[in-house]
Amino acid sequence: MISENLLKEATGLLCDYLRIDTTNPPGNEEAGAVFLKSVLEKEGLPAEIYRSAHGRGNLISRLKGDGSKKPLLLLHHIDVVGAVEKDWKYPPFSGAVKEGSIWGRGALDCKGLGIMQLMAFVLLKRERVPLRRDIIYLAVADEEVGGEYGAGWMAKRYPEEVKAEFLLNEGGMGAIGMLGKDRKLYSLGFGEKGVLWLRVRARGKAGHGSMPHSENANDRLVRALTAILGHETPIQIGQGMREAFREFGRGSLPRSLIVRLLVNEPVLNLLRKRLKAYPKMNAILRNTISLTNLRAGFKENVIPSESEAVLDCRLLPDTEPGEFLSWLRGLVRKEAVEIEIIKEARSSQSPLKTEFFQVISEVVKANTPGVNILPMVAAGFTDSRFFRELGAVAYGLIPAFYHPEEIEAMHGVDERITVESLGLGTKNIYDIINKLSL
Ligand SMILES: [Zn+2]
Repeated sequence: MISENLLKEATGLLCDYLRIDTTNPPGNEEAGAVFLKSVLEKEGLPAEIYRSAHGRGNLISRLKGDGSKKPLLLLHHIDVVGAVEKDWKYPPFSGAVKEGSIWGRGALDCKGLGIMQLMAFVLLKRERVPLRRDIIYLAVADEEVGGEYGAGWMAKRYPEEVKAEFLLNEGGMGAIGMLGKDRKLYSLGFGEKGVLWLRVRARGKAGHGSMPHSENANDRLVRALTAILGHETPIQIGQGMREAFREFGRGSLPRSLIVRLLVNEPVLNLLRKRLKAYPKMNAILRNTISLTNLRAGFKENVIPSESEAVLDCRLLPDTEPGEFLSWLRGLVRKEAVEIEIIKEARSSQSPLKTEFFQVISEVVKANTPGVNILPMVAAGFTDSRFFRELGAVAYGLIPAFYHPEEIEAMHGVDERITVESLGLGTKNIYDIINKLSL
């Protein structure tokens, strides 16, 4: 593992980084970018800050290779979600080191990863490791609100500067205890579901509540929603997930049997009603629809002429959004409702048969013997999608281990990372870069 001194240095850097409040909104990521820039420049690494809006900074730094291979991009986001201080054991922007952990909003999501990457990046420079590819260190604003001022902005404005063959980002992590007590497992995010937010609007005729009629917009909306939500979407194991399960099932016999069942759609479909009891599992095996908003009526005795609902639909990489939408429209054909798109973001997915996956797998297994890697399509999205569009093979992995209660603290209270995890993550990332770039 990394030396005691380096671990102390990494811990100090993470504490300083956590003390900068980059809650988004408003973000104020520029302060974080300035901090990272000062660390890099002390090491003789030039860094540049790109300002996408007032106070919104994105930072990029590059270690030059000989150009015989295409760049590797290390990505994390500077912004964090909000925190209610009174609920925390140690204040969320204190960067306290207590009980073997570093505490603060962003310790896991995503400043911890940012410091692991930064340490590995700085070490390569200190050791003058000859590289065959450029290593790009990129810290972006605005991930928590969609990336419009961060990764999306950088990819659109400066595609040449952020183009890479491989990209390492958040979107997967190590977990302890998921496969049994003390068993260690890495989930690696190789794909993300797409987003389709829809507005369902019903129109009808206004009237008095004392005299019901057949053109009540609310009645129409309720019937349409009942038709949509009453329909179970099928379980779908796409090409990518099939490959992922196969990867996971390689080796030991009981596991390979379980996996053979898991890729069996008819078997899974028998279980699909039960699957809803496991929201995380459910979300990655099917297209999902959540009813998130309802707006209907304004007075007890008035039948409104219009009412509407919002559906948050998340689509698997193998689903065509257009086809999904026509399917939904088919379900409500008999009702006088319209469905319109509020927002659409396509799913994205990287292949698994790559040098990158091979190297990550070798490195993390060498550093943690006996660990398993489970490649996953994530239900939510990260900034990786912007770079997949530019041609990068992007994987999500914070390569260290967390207990279930630590994972829950992400976006919750008492977010923290153990000093030990920070060290292991730094070591893994350093080894991955080395192996990919020598
Ligand atoms: Zn994040």
